[in-house]
Amino acid sequence: MQKKAIVKTPVPKQVAQSSKPKKAKPTPTKKEINPAASNLKILMIASELAPFIKTGGLADACESLAAALVARGHEVRIFIPRYRSLAVGNATFKQVHGPMGVWMGTGPCNWCTVIETQTISGVTVNCIEFNEYFDRSGLYHAENMDDYQDNPARFAFFVRAALQWCIDTGYSPDIVHAHDWQSALATAYLKVWFWNNPTLAKSASVLTIHNAAYQGVYSKGVYPYLGFGKQHFTSTIFEDYDKVNLLKAGIHFADVVNTVSPTHACEIISPYGGFGLAPLLTEKKNAFYGILNGIDESAWDPRSDKHIPHHFSSHDLSGKKKCKEALQEKFGLSKDPHIAILGVVGRFAEQKGYHLLSKILDKVLGTMHIQFVILGTGAPDLEYFYGGLPARYTHRVGSHIGFSNDLAHLITAGADFFIMPSLFEPCGLNQMYSQRYGTLPIVHATGGLEDTVDNYSEAEGTGSGFKLWDMTPDALYYTIGWAISTYYDRPHHMQKLIANAMAKDFSWEESAEKYLALYNVARDNKQRYDSHCAEKLQ
Ligand code: ADP
Repeated sequence: MQKKAIVKTPVPKQVAQSSKPKKAKPTPTKKEINPAASNLKILMIASELAPFIKTGGLADACESLAAALVARGHEVRIFIPRYRSLAVGNATFKQVHGPMGVWMGTGPCNWCTVIETQTISGVTVNCIEFNEYFDRSGLYHAENMDDYQDNPARFAFFVRAALQWCIDTGYSPDIVHAHDWQSALATAYLKVWFWNNPTLAKSASVLTIHNAAYQGVYSKGVYPYLGFGKQHFTSTIFEDYDKVNLLKAGIHFADVVNTVSPTHACEIISPYGGFGLAPLLTEKKNAFYGILNGIDESAWDPRSDKHIPHHFSSHDLSGKKKCKEALQEKFGLSKDPHIAILGVVGRFAEQKGYHLLSKILDKVLGTMHIQFVILGTGAPDLEYFYGGLPARYTHRVGSHIGFSNDLAHLITAGADFFIMPSLFEPCGLNQMYSQRYGTLPIVHATGGLEDTVDNYSEAEGTGSGFKLWDMTPDALYYTIGWAISTYYDRPHHMQKLIANAMAKDFSWEESAEKYLALYNVARDNKQRYDSHCAEKLQ
């Protein structure tokens, strides 16, 4: 097969080498804290949980962290809302409680029901059924992308209902682990409403921030319904430029807070990071950490993946070649086993950097011998741009505007490179999935992308991907060019990089241990807080 020469793309120095000094990263270590306790009762409250309901990485992280904790002998129960689009699959849910009365700060008592199932990994899943709030087409917004304006009321009610179930059934968790703004108020209800409740008074709270850019900021009209007093409507707790900020309040009341990578933890406590939360997170001092997510290796393993047509491993990549062929067929690309394929999967959100990619893609396609495949949904202008590409680049570009787990797996397996030009990325899963499948990531060196991808060294042939530090069109263009020139001009290095990427450990082993260490920090902090309060009462 004749190879078309690519235009050589020189690599500017700042693209190829990290210029940023290394910062100390806030990760709980065994040295800093007590050994982890055994047989913890962990109550998680989350707005998404794979495989039942997922719009992003939060769902995956909750599923696999919970499974990893159960595998270590702990008891994990997760509450999620019973959305209309909940994918029940083979699971059998049974009603375990209800009608259950839930009082909020204002209004009458609302009655909901609690249903329950067990996952194969032994995690108990409870859903709060309350149609007025959750029987809707979307999770957080309507089809026109407008947020449901009653989101704070919906998710405050959901959190209150999960805690009410604990009270009604006498279930005393050691840890209440809340995720993101949707469940952040759990920490506030524990400290303000239930500080002396016999069932919940001893529970320590953990808040994981999966994405600090989403804080649940809404009109303060909802504040009385949430049920907190004027004394809490201050700039360090709920108030945010005269609006209500749920994540901020959650941080304030949590016994411990973490985000999902050590580098992102540094980024969001830096003076310009944190989306306004830096001062509050800095205040948390010894109660703020960064713990990298792992991946669900049972779902994302090229040796056994149910969603791909051919399996492969680092010892035998023949299945990957066949997946590449299947990818080309699926997206109507010309069948060329030698051409480099660049893949993208992700939410079309400002954060992901696809606007920047759209600015240089014509130049990339005009100068490099590549095929390009993209799967995503979100911002209408990006859906229009990427959705229109196949018509402009017949047999060279494929796109699917929508959400498809099957296609996500096929792209991850069949592409040669995976582009993630995120402006910021708290952890990111796709770069880990792609490395596992020998698909080299091209990433902006931020957050979890910085922590999980080793930059290619042309001198030594080491690394597992390609990083850029400057978020400019040129830096992205040249970094893609660098990857493509490696593909064609240094195939021996490509082989090494693929082997390095596939050998990386992205399991939950280490991260689950760090969460257990974090839970211990939370329990210590809670004990200190309780003793402090007890002293004041004397
Ligand atoms: P975020 O949570 O910010 O969206 P992550 O990289 O942490 O980003 O996780 C995204 C998850 O959602 C990955 O599992 C990814 O494969 C999946 N995903 C995102 N968009 C799509 C899509 N359009 N179709 C299928 N899966 C998608």
